[in-house]
Amino acid sequence: MAKSRKKTRVAAKASKRGRGPIAQKALFAPWRMPFILAPKDPGCFFCRAAALKAGDEAGWKDALLLHRDRHALAIMNRYPYIGGHLLVAPLRHTSDFANLTPQEHKSMWELARRCVGLLEKTMRPQGHNLGMNLGKAAGAGVEAHLHLHVLPRWLGDTNFLPVVDGTHSIPVALGELWETFRPEFKRAKHQA
Ligand SMILES: [Zn+2]
Repeated sequence: MAKSRKKTRVAAKASKRGRGPIAQKALFAPWRMPFILAPKDPGCFFCRAAALKAGDEAGWKDALLLHRDRHALAIMNRYPYIGGHLLVAPLRHTSDFANLTPQEHKSMWELARRCVGLLEKTMRPQGHNLGMNLGKAAGAGVEAHLHLHVLPRWLGDTNFLPVVDGTHSIPVALGELWETFRPEFKRAKHQA
């Protein structure tokens, strides 16, 4: 009994020092702190990206917007869990996944497919996670405007919420990544 209490105290101390149990390590993503601490923007960055002018490459880069068609967009996560963390969302501000229009659904899935393709080409991951967090209880960061996460994965990443202490989790310059990814979409025939 005393032994197990001691173990618990040791684990708690270790976790306070940031060297604690694996689960806590896996969620340690220090570059997300600005997002966590920042005052929440009352606007919606998906909607702002949806409203950017076609051809405004500087504005698109600033917003990290990669591609947009008539119904959906692909954008880089400004506070990624991992380099290459992309988001696909409908242009319409909605949280109602069950009532997406067929066109929105088709566009989102097509953009997700192309996101996976460009990640494979540029980052050579060994796998991908595609997933949605619908609603606050499910962990949605931007609850009101639904979005699909597309994450490249490498062996050694163990959790869905990746991924923090491996070499692939080092934050990369987002603007540089945008410049790598954007041409892959610019080759598209039907860009916005
Ligand atoms: Zn929105």
